[in-house]
Amino acid sequence: MALDDQDIQRLGRCVELARAALNAGDEPFGSILVDADGTVLFEDHNHVADGDATAHPELAIAQWSAANLPPDRRGRATVYTSGEHCPMCAAAHAWVGLGRIVFAVAGAQLADWLTDWQAPLPPVATLPITAVAPQLTVDGPAPQYRDEMMALYATKFAP
Ligand SMILES: [Zn+2]
Repeated sequence: MALDDQDIQRLGRCVELARAALNAGDEPFGSILVDADGTVLFEDHNHVADGDATAHPELAIAQWSAANLPPDRRGRATVYTSGEHCPMCAAAHAWVGLGRIVFAVAGAQLADWLTDWQAPLPPVATLPITAVAPQLTVDGPAPQYRDEMMALYATKFAP
């Protein structure tokens, strides 16, 4: 499915959350969970600065959904995220039965930038979401946000 104006707008909120994370001393990743009727149910950004490297917003969304949404609502909800889910979060998303994922920047793109900057790579392999969870519907990237996200990542990760 192509990205429509609403998708682009919702990704814009994820980029805002990524910027807020960076401004709070954390890594620039932000995500939102949107119900089938368009209601934003949950939003979060990375909280890894305190030492828990698993505190990704996509994992928080999966856990919140498991605790708060019946399975049929999870399957109709969409997760928007500034950066494509890592394998941990893609697995969690699939295990709890959430629906479509829309990302602004691909994980492979971030890995290319980190390599260019000679920055440390993540300890977990960079894989497309569909390599981890082949049944998921995944859309992205959104080229509109490429430069803005590259600048946020560079601020945090480039030496
Ligand atoms: Zn993750």
